Amino acid sequence: MKFDNIIIGGGLSGLTCGIKLAEQGKKCAIVSSGQSAIHFFSGSFDFLGKLNGQEVKNPLEAIKTLPDSHPYQRVGVENIARLAVEAPLLLNRAGLSFLGKADQNHFVLTPMGIMKPTWLTLDDFTRFEQKNTFPWKKAVILNFSGFLDFHTLFVQDGLKKFDVDSQVKNFAMKEFEAIRRNPSEMRSTNIAKVFDQGEDALNEFAEKVNLLSEGFEVVILPAVFGLFNKNVVANLKSKINKPLVLLPAIPPSVPGIRSQIFLRKRFEELGGTYFLGDNVEEGTLENNRLVAIHTKNHGDIKLEADHFVLASGSFYSKGIVATREKLYEPILGLDIDGDTDNEKWLDEKFFNDQPYMHYGVKTDSHFRALINGQPIENLYVAGSVLGGANALKEGSGAGISVLTSLHVAEQILK
Ligand SMILES: Cc1cc2nc3c(=O)[nH]c(=O)nc-3n(C[C@H](O)[C@H](O)[C@H](O)COP(=O)(O)OP(=O)(O)OC[C@H]3O[C@@H](n4cnc5c(N)ncnc54)[C@H](O)[C@@H]3O)c2cc1C
Repeated sequence: MKFDNIIIGGGLSGLTCGIKLAEQGKKCAIVSSGQSAIHFFSGSFDFLGKLNGQEVKNPLEAIKTLPDSHPYQRVGVENIARLAVEAPLLLNRAGLSFLGKADQNHFVLTPMGIMKPTWLTLDDFTRFEQKNTFPWKKAVILNFSGFLDFHTLFVQDGLKKFDVDSQVKNFAMKEFEAIRRNPSEMRSTNIAKVFDQGEDALNEFAEKVNLLSEGFEVVILPAVFGLFNKNVVANLKSKINKPLVLLPAIPPSVPGIRSQIFLRKRFEELGGTYFLGDNVEEGTLENNRLVAIHTKNHGDIKLEADHFVLASGSFYSKGIVATREKLYEPILGLDIDGDTDNEKWLDEKFFNDQPYMHYGVKTDSHFRALINGQPIENLYVAGSVLGGANALKEGSGAGISVLTSLHVAEQILK
């Protein structure tokens, strides 16, 4: 099977890269072995939340001071500024409304009741301009009886710091009787499916919420609405007669899965082919070019392309792997940007900047992968499989994933 471009990995990076290429008329395929980090998505895409331990107000300004090895510096500050405008538009064309600006972080309330700086927030969630103020003084935190993946007491505790007087209330609905019998069934996605199925459950729920929120200024609920049907959140907001603040629950993330579904749908509507549940096992290299990849499900059928993109994620998705003996990229054995001495991978102080978090696949200045220092001319690398940043520490995960992907797509389109 022959494509213009094949992308290995169907997470946020693979999908944004694939959509951009497909929008330009390229015949693309994405091969993805499994779930991606989007299934754990908080509702916000971070660009740069912290630098040297300090909170960042203007990420576009702050990235100018990052080291040369950081993916943002390697893409180039001007390119990043341009692509940061393009990214929400691309997401929007996929039916996902993300709001925010790259030159001014806003804040979102975390499930721990803390305000966190971020770049783009899905419109399900509430964006706050100030870190230290919560606009309401009396809040009701509501949860479904038996739903253990929303920690109301953490939220309540966090809100105390904003002088918010809050009360936690649990409630039951007959629609959840069946799934409540088994705690492993009482999960966010199963709750969301009940509300996806029809207006009746949502109407009954909204009535309950309105009753329980009497005397309060704002309602706080777990983000378990709109798995396949994106109108559920807007519908719910219109039926509740107080402002509604949704907070992420423990994964699987309902807005995350919805985002993944929408991005994949957009890619396929543009003519892209998405091979889900297939693992790329190896590739054929000839004269410093990757000519084909071989996957578990396709067996002897090789997948060929003019250009390939490796967007296989970091350790979490096995884009790179560490054993006791070595650190490696499992498909082609690409060069790794990381220490060969495993004694240096970890800092014994858990909260310090962990060295291994900076590791990833090494690339040349065009983001092409290397083997023994030689670039593979048609294999580009994007997203969290790249090294050069501790995305967790600096709050830059989605920013690096989306913006390096768009940049790599531009390299291919040149
Ligand atoms: C648990 C978790 C939660 C996060 N939440 C957020 C958040 O809320 N906001 C934020 O800004 N950042 C978040 N991040 C940071 C995250 O790195 C980025 O946001 C981004 O989603 C990463 O996208 P990616 O496509 O590079 O990698 P991934 O999402 O890891 O996707 C890689 C994909 O490649 C596939 N793959 C791997 N190897 C192969 C192979 N051999 N063959 C075929 N497919 C393969 C995997 O199955 C996976 O689907 C989170 C990270 C993690 C780990």
